[in-house]
Amino acid sequence: MKINEQFLTKNEYSRPGIKINKWTKVAIHYVANPGSSAQANRNYFENLKDTHTTKVSSHFVVGLNGEVIQCIPLDEISYCTNQANSYAISIETCHPDSSGKFNPATEQSLAELVAFLLKKFGLTVNDIIRHYDVTGKICPKWYVEDSAAYSRFKSSVASLMAGKTQSAPEDDTVSPVKLFYVQVGAFSIRANAEAFLGMVKQKYRDAFVKNYGGMYYVQVGAFSSQVNAVTFLADVKKDYRDSFIKVF
Ligand SMILES: [Zn+2]
Repeated sequence: MKINEQFLTKNEYSRPGIKINKWTKVAIHYVANPGSSAQANRNYFENLKDTHTTKVSSHFVVGLNGEVIQCIPLDEISYCTNQANSYAISIETCHPDSSGKFNPATEQSLAELVAFLLKKFGLTVNDIIRHYDVTGKICPKWYVEDSAAYSRFKSSVASLMAGKTQSAPEDDTVSPVKLFYVQVGAFSIRANAEAFLGMVKQKYRDAFVKNYGGMYYVQVGAFSSQVNAVTFLADVKKDYRDSFIKVF
């Protein structure tokens, strides 16, 4: 997830320049304009300085292809979440049609962005809010109407936060299935990874090398449940103190 900074011109309709340095929530919205791009939404906020039609903006806009545009610096408020503007960072999210459902690439970037912001400000997944939670507005539509989708989203944010600084690899974005790998070593040279694997296998017979992004990871188990991976990791740590869980 890359953040493309395109700060709005300061103006009273979309970037009032009011300073805030303590955020306690991250608020999620949907743009309610099917098929519109992140750039178009950002430009709409910018043009309010001339059109004066309304007061609205957001700190971030996540686009249909997962692109992220930042419109307002993180020490200023946005005009997005009504009475929560003074304590909530706001994210507008694009969607292809009127159902309000997000594309997988959009949802992935949104999860990465939310995980990044929660970590940055020392918050947890319990500090994610929807516009709906503040005003009762059906926003973001998908996460209000489909509570299972909203729960899944929050767990994926939690996984990203648990996965150290690791964000999901790009070619994984189409697959909703994530595995938790217990990893004992990482090598840039395959032969070194294989040699290490030979030692590891004396105790962990199912150990294997996973080649990913030009690196060779020596792993001793893969779990679909994070809890099971954590339980197993506790044992492995007795042999390999630096082992940890990697999410792919
Ligand atoms: Zn909203």
